[in-house]
Amino acid sequence: MTIKPKRLPKRLIDDCFLHDKDRLRHDEAIAILKERLSPVVGSSIYPIADITGRILAEEIHSPENVPMHNNAAVDGYAYQSKDFDAVDGYFPVSSRIVAGDQNPIHLPENSAARIFTGAVMPANADTVVMQEDCKTSSSEGMPFVKIQVGLKPGANWRKAGEDLELGEMVLPIGKQLRPQDIAAIASTGKAQVQVYDQLRIGLISTGDELRRPGIEINHGQVYDSNHFLLNSLLQTCNAKITDYGIFDDSEKTIRFVMREAASKNDVIITTGGASRGEEDHIISALDAIGKRHMWQMAIKPGRPMAFGQISGQEHECLFFGLPGNPVAVMVCFLMYVRPALGRLSGSNWKEPSRFPLPASFEMKQKKPDRRESLRGVLSKDSDGNIEVSKFQKDGSGLISSLRQSDGLIEIAEEVTEINKGDMVGFIPFSEFGIN
Ligand code: AMP
Ligand code: MG
Repeated sequence: MTIKPKRLPKRLIDDCFLHDKDRLRHDEAIAILKERLSPVVGSSIYPIADITGRILAEEIHSPENVPMHNNAAVDGYAYQSKDFDAVDGYFPVSSRIVAGDQNPIHLPENSAARIFTGAVMPANADTVVMQEDCKTSSSEGMPFVKIQVGLKPGANWRKAGEDLELGEMVLPIGKQLRPQDIAAIASTGKAQVQVYDQLRIGLISTGDELRRPGIEINHGQVYDSNHFLLNSLLQTCNAKITDYGIFDDSEKTIRFVMREAASKNDVIITTGGASRGEEDHIISALDAIGKRHMWQMAIKPGRPMAFGQISGQEHECLFFGLPGNPVAVMVCFLMYVRPALGRLSGSNWKEPSRFPLPASFEMKQKKPDRRESLRGVLSKDSDGNIEVSKFQKDGSGLISSLRQSDGLIEIAEEVTEINKGDMVGFIPFSEFGIN
């Protein structure tokens, strides 16, 4: 089961005359998703070359110190600082150590070793001087190095275990793996790891007016851009996507495809037809074949977003019914669907960071009781400080507003007015894994 049975807040009850204050608030929706969703996928072992962006299903500990040995951080000469005065910085070079040499070296008193970056430090050396900072010579076939006074004892070498200590926890279960995490796993010597399997996600577009790119459209028709928006957004979500195509605004056909998709996927995402108009059939189809957990949100854009589940014979399939307007699709996906998919696929809940920035725009008469997500464009004021303005047009059908902005500005429910210079919360798109 993916959803813990629990009494739903009163606000989830459908009511044709809902006001924003009666609709489900952002925080309540997040709490419901966070609380009721748990991982639904299994896990498999993968070679570490193939795990970028995957979610770790085992805890990684370091079986050794990394690095395993004290080693030189530069090309130069290793010596014991206590010997410096005895030879007045003029050391005979008694050995040569390169990276990869395995024989332990012990420096004879009052001598230095030629050493290269990554080579094991002589057991009794405590300082390495860079080759650029010393002069070499030879006397009677013996190489010598002259080191300037003033180098701090302890300089220019790296301690065993300085990066990872033996037994240290490197990465927790649930971590979405970034390149630097994979480098850390490799540095411990592990060649393969257990990661969660991909979520199976079915995408369904609904709307009589929709056609796929690649064919000519007639007056009154539009291209199904939402499918490609979602398909692309899902590339960062460990998803195996099945495209069910476009379905007309008919409850019967929508119900049919939703049932079919539910039997083969962990999650279904629909776009369009989620409102309460005569041509909107998503909610009635969901009510007929599954359970509705939330619908009608106190947010703009995205008010008609629905979340529910469809029970199959073998498994539960989660359902997200997104609105049809592209801006609403992207906002709802980023704010609710993306973290929910993360949770279902084994990752920790990822709340995007909000960065407070001064507004360079005004917003008079914002409606209270609903949270608004504006498209935010970053700029600099006359002193070079970063500020944020809202995209000049508000329409929720404008893909241009998504394309030409840098992230979302979040305006809280209780705010009714924004003046220039007020601090607002800005979420850069990078917080959602979008460059
Ligand atoms: P709906 O939510 O079905 O009332 O649709 C709201 C608006 O979004 C309408 O103007 C639709 O034409 C548009 N729309 C719906 N689905 C899509 C889609 N897949 N791609 C682009 N626009 C869409
Ligand atoms: Mg429609």
